[in-house]
Amino acid sequence: MNAQLKLLVELQEIDSQLQRLEATKGDLPVREREVRNKRDALKNRLDSLQAELEQTRKDRVRANSEFESLKDKKAKYQKQLFTVRNNREYDAVTAEIELAEKALEDLETRIIALMEREDQLSKEVERVSEELKVAETELEELLKELNEKSAQIEDQRLRLMHEREKVVMQADKSLVASYERIRRAKGGLAVVPVSKGACGGCFTQIPPQRALEIRSSDRIYTCEVCGRYLYWKDDTFSDSH
Ligand SMILES: [Zn+2]
Repeated sequence: MNAQLKLLVELQEIDSQLQRLEATKGDLPVREREVRNKRDALKNRLDSLQAELEQTRKDRVRANSEFESLKDKKAKYQKQLFTVRNNREYDAVTAEIELAEKALEDLETRIIALMEREDQLSKEVERVSEELKVAETELEELLKELNEKSAQIEDQRLRLMHEREKVVMQADKSLVASYERIRRAKGGLAVVPVSKGACGGCFTQIPPQRALEIRSSDRIYTCEVCGRYLYWKDDTFSDSH
């Protein structure tokens, strides 16, 4: 077998072992990502709710002080009514009082609406805070589980990574790059044996003449359908007998 192809076969074996090792974590990494996303979304929601609540409070405080100063103004006009000197002045002051009364009514409606909104927002803040707390606890537990699992497989993973480095150092750089590309695109499998006359990756039949070449030639062959590297395994040959 071509020496470089042999290295790729070793690399594939190591990567498959690493993948199996990683798979022992089960759905923990996926769940961790999901809960983390949920936690982040809740945190954003809480931040914007709190900002809105703060703004609503400020608006209410301002409306309240407008209300008070308008009440003072109205009281002043009412006092002026006792000092008017003619009907024209009386009508003018009365008109001002009516204007102030209308504005006070509007402000009161606005203050009530703001108070209701504040109430709503406070409840929503409480509810989202509670949900956030639950998500954070869940995330902590998942992380703990994941760390324990990672610690269990760490020795094995390091040993494989070390082996992998050794193989990569000996292998042709562009071949390794191409291997990585295929592996990423093809579900982790870039180097496959010819199995029962077919590509061990996509199971497309290989013409017998080409299969013979793969077996005997020192060249590196790839599957014409899936692009994976092909190698001959002696026990596959005995399969066909
Ligand atoms: Zn194939």
